[in-house]
Amino acid sequence: KAKEKGRLGYQFFTAAMDHQMVERRELEKSLRRGLRDGEIFIHLQPKVRLGDGGVTGFEALARWQSAEHGLVPPVRFIPLAEECGLVGAIGDVVLRRTLETLAGWRAAGRKVLPVAVNLSAVQLGNPALAGEIGALLREFDLPPSLLELELTESMLMGDVDQVRAILFRLKDQGIRLSIDDFGTGYSSLSYLKRFPVDVLKIDRSFVTDLPGDPEGEALCLAIIHMAKALSLDVIAEGVETEAQSLFLARHGCDYAQGFHFARPVPVDEAAEYLPDARVSDRTV
Ligand code: C2E
Ligand code: MG
Ligand code: MG
Ligand code: MG
Repeated sequence: KAKEKGRLGYQFFTAAMDHQMVERRELEKSLRRGLRDGEIFIHLQPKVRLGDGGVTGFEALARWQSAEHGLVPPVRFIPLAEECGLVGAIGDVVLRRTLETLAGWRAAGRKVLPVAVNLSAVQLGNPALAGEIGALLREFDLPPSLLELELTESMLMGDVDQVRAILFRLKDQGIRLSIDDFGTGYSSLSYLKRFPVDVLKIDRSFVTDLPGDPEGEALCLAIIHMAKALSLDVIAEGVETEAQSLFLARHGCDYAQGFHFARPVPVDEAAEYLPDARVSDRTV
């Protein structure tokens, strides 16, 4: 009887696996098509100075409005894209949409702010990346200082010499580099000295517990102090409350990003955060 039950359990298990695989393949097919049909776009989330709440820039976040699956969040389609070789193409779209937006604002006579774009490990494995991004900036006639690239700690651990070479090539062009989700990786911190990094982004998981959680507080303070000691900028991500914002400001964190200040918004709405935004912009 136990044997029967076991076999039945096994059948259920494989059926569930088959179902998952079919779903995944289906999503991949949709993504391939969606990429071709222009279903990938960006939202922009403001970054603010904690001192006065002024907006200092944006982060571009990929969005996929799928004809078949509706709005699919990046946590579902970025890892999938990485596995099936589409993340480079998605990265290209995100970069292009970002630079297009900046160029559009400039053409309209707006004062613009830097925008950060997330890179994936696959993109950083492309030795031509720095050249391609440089060419794209020239195509849109934009100064490289308007672009920032967000990397994660794990991306710095692969082929160190190659990654270093690419990052220096980006940095030498005047592009700023930041470490995203800082504090969640496992690597030694010595990489902060070896790579040309400008900004540390405190991971949301540490910010969530502020104020009051001794471990969350200790980790945030340690990251803020380390950033200062290394002359790096430091920004907290996922700030959702006034109390979190006050704690961070009081302890020397210069910048923040999170729902407390602003959510990621479509690019037209993001224009309302530009320095010369007019009152009429806020009513549309
Ligand atoms: P990330 O780069 O750490 O981006 C921050 C994420 O936190 C975004 O989620 C943002 O919407 C969310 N967020 C911002 N403020 C708050 C807050 O106050 N509370 C909470 N709970 N969440 C907040 P999103 O847009 O879903 O993106 C998730 C992740 O997907 C990103 O994390 C990034 O790792 C990846 N991703 C997004 N766009 C791209 C892209 O263009 N390329 C690559 N390679 N990865 C991307
Ligand atoms: Mg990011
Ligand atoms: Mg982040
Ligand atoms: Mg994060």
